[in-house]
Amino acid sequence: MADNHSKEVRSMNMSHIRSTNSKPEEIVRKYLFSQGLRYRKNVKKLPGCPDIVLPKYHTVIFVNGCFWHRHDCSRFVWPSSNQDYWRPKILRNVERDKKNTEELKALGWNVITVWECELKRAVREENLNLLITKIQQSKS
Ligand SMILES: [Zn+2]
Repeated sequence: MADNHSKEVRSMNMSHIRSTNSKPEEIVRKYLFSQGLRYRKNVKKLPGCPDIVLPKYHTVIFVNGCFWHRHDCSRFVWPSSNQDYWRPKILRNVERDKKNTEELKALGWNVITVWECELKRAVREENLNLLITKIQQSKS
Protein backbone atom coordinates (compact mmCIF):
# COMPACT_ATOMS: atom_id res chain seq x y z
CA MET A 1 0.00 0.00 0.00
CA ALA A 2 2.63 2.47 1.04
CA ASP A 3 4.48 1.74 -2.11
CA ASN A 4 1.37 2.42 -4.21
CA HIS A 5 1.09 5.85 -2.68
CA SER A 6 4.64 6.76 -3.35
CA LYS A 7 4.31 5.54 -6.91
CA GLU A 8 1.31 7.75 -7.41
CA VAL A 9 3.02 10.75 -5.88
CA ARG A 10 6.00 10.11 -8.05
CA SER A 11 3.95 10.07 -11.22
CA MET A 12 2.13 13.25 -10.16
CA ASN A 13 5.48 14.87 -9.58
CA MET A 14 6.54 13.81 -13.02
CA SER A 15 3.50 15.34 -14.63
CA HIS A 16 4.09 18.49 -12.63
CA ILE A 17 7.66 18.66 -13.82
CA ARG A 18 6.52 18.19 -17.39
CA SER A 19 4.04 20.99 -17.06
CA THR A 20 6.44 23.43 -15.44
CA ASN A 21 8.95 22.57 -18.12
CA SER A 22 6.49 24.66 -20.02
CA LYS A 23 5.82 22.72 -23.14
CA PRO A 24 2.21 23.98 -23.35
CA GLU A 25 3.38 27.54 -22.63
CA GLU A 26 5.99 27.20 -25.33
CA ILE A 27 3.38 26.10 -27.87
CA VAL A 28 1.30 29.17 -27.13
CA ARG A 29 4.25 31.56 -27.09
CA LYS A 30 5.64 30.27 -30.37
CA TYR A 31 2.27 30.61 -32.01
CA LEU A 32 1.75 34.17 -30.78
CA PHE A 33 5.22 35.09 -31.93
CA SER A 34 4.58 33.57 -35.36
CA GLN A 35 1.48 35.74 -35.59
CA GLY A 36 3.51 38.84 -34.88
CA LEU A 37 2.31 39.31 -31.31
CA ARG A 38 4.91 40.40 -28.83
CA TYR A 39 4.72 39.42 -25.22
CA ARG A 40 6.56 39.25 -21.95
CA LYS A 41 6.68 36.07 -19.98
CA ASN A 42 6.34 35.16 -16.29
CA VAL A 43 5.71 38.70 -15.17
CA LYS A 44 6.30 38.45 -11.45
CA LYS A 45 4.97 41.85 -10.50
CA LEU A 46 1.47 40.88 -11.65
CA PRO A 47 -0.84 38.69 -9.54
CA GLY A 48 -0.24 35.02 -10.26
CA CYS A 49 2.88 35.70 -12.35
CA PRO A 50 1.09 35.25 -15.71
CA ASP A 51 2.79 32.99 -18.23
CA ILE A 52 2.25 35.46 -21.05
CA VAL A 53 1.59 39.20 -20.90
CA LEU A 54 0.61 41.25 -23.94
CA PRO A 55 0.82 44.86 -22.77
CA LYS A 56 -0.43 46.25 -26.07
CA TYR A 57 -3.66 44.28 -25.68
CA HIS A 58 -3.96 44.67 -21.92
CA THR A 59 -4.14 40.91 -21.85
CA VAL A 60 -2.56 38.23 -19.73
CA ILE A 61 -2.64 34.53 -20.51
CA PHE A 62 -2.33 31.64 -18.13
CA VAL A 63 -1.54 28.26 -19.64
CA ASN A 64 -2.91 25.81 -17.12
CA GLY A 65 -2.47 22.11 -16.62
CA CYS A 66 -5.86 20.42 -16.36
CA PHE A 67 -4.89 18.37 -13.33
CA TRP A 68 -3.26 21.07 -11.24
CA HIS A 69 -5.93 23.64 -11.88
CA ARG A 70 -8.91 21.28 -11.85
CA HIS A 71 -10.20 21.85 -15.33
CA ASP A 72 -13.71 20.61 -15.97
CA CYS A 73 -12.60 18.13 -18.61
CA SER A 74 -11.80 14.46 -19.02
CA ARG A 75 -8.19 15.05 -18.04
CA PHE A 76 -9.11 15.96 -14.53
CA VAL A 77 -9.79 13.07 -12.15
CA TRP A 78 -9.42 13.23 -8.40
CA PRO A 79 -6.60 10.89 -7.42
CA SER A 80 -8.08 7.75 -5.89
CA SER A 81 -5.54 7.56 -3.10
CA ASN A 82 -3.84 10.12 -0.89
CA GLN A 83 -6.87 12.36 -1.10
CA ASP A 84 -5.97 14.16 2.11
CA TYR A 85 -2.92 15.39 0.33
CA TRP A 86 -4.27 16.15 -3.15
CA ARG A 87 -7.66 17.60 -2.38
CA PRO A 88 -6.56 20.64 -0.36
CA LYS A 89 -3.60 21.18 -2.63
CA ILE A 90 -5.66 21.34 -5.79
CA LEU A 91 -8.48 23.30 -4.19
CA ARG A 92 -5.90 25.84 -3.05
CA ASN A 93 -4.71 26.21 -6.63
CA VAL A 94 -8.26 26.79 -7.81
CA GLU A 95 -8.83 29.42 -5.11
CA ARG A 96 -5.58 31.13 -5.97
CA ASP A 97 -6.46 31.18 -9.68
CA LYS A 98 -9.78 32.80 -8.88
CA LYS A 99 -8.20 35.41 -6.65
CA ASN A 100 -5.47 36.23 -9.19
CA THR A 101 -8.03 36.61 -11.95
CA GLU A 102 -10.09 38.99 -9.84
CA GLU A 103 -7.06 41.07 -8.95
CA LEU A 104 -5.88 41.24 -12.54
CA LYS A 105 -9.30 42.29 -13.76
CA ALA A 106 -9.42 44.97 -11.07
CA LEU A 107 -6.11 46.24 -12.47
CA GLY A 108 -7.67 46.47 -15.91
CA TRP A 109 -6.26 43.33 -17.50
CA ASN A 110 -8.17 40.92 -19.68
CA VAL A 111 -7.48 37.44 -18.43
CA ILE A 112 -7.44 34.46 -20.76
CA THR A 113 -6.84 30.90 -19.64
CA VAL A 114 -5.55 28.35 -22.10
CA TRP A 115 -5.95 24.76 -20.92
CA GLU A 116 -3.52 22.01 -21.65
CA CYS A 117 -6.29 19.90 -23.21
CA GLU A 118 -7.00 22.69 -25.70
CA LEU A 119 -3.51 22.21 -27.05
CA LYS A 120 -3.95 18.57 -28.01
CA ARG A 121 -2.81 18.13 -31.56
CA ALA A 122 -6.25 17.49 -33.00
CA VAL A 123 -7.70 20.75 -31.69
CA ARG A 124 -4.62 22.91 -31.22
CA GLU A 125 -4.76 24.91 -34.41
CA GLU A 126 -8.42 25.75 -34.02
CA ASN A 127 -7.99 26.82 -30.41
CA LEU A 128 -4.90 28.90 -31.12
CA ASN A 129 -6.76 30.71 -33.88
CA LEU A 130 -9.56 31.37 -31.45
CA LEU A 131 -7.05 32.68 -28.94
CA ILE A 132 -5.73 35.24 -31.43
CA THR A 133 -9.28 36.41 -32.04
CA LYS A 134 -9.87 36.77 -28.31
CA ILE A 135 -6.66 38.72 -27.87
CA GLN A 136 -7.46 41.07 -30.73
CA GLN A 137 -10.92 41.69 -29.34
CA SER A 138 -9.28 42.74 -26.10
CA LYS A 139 -7.60 45.72 -27.68
CA SER A 140 -8.93 49.06 -26.54
ZN1 LIG B 1 -8.69 20.32 -19.66
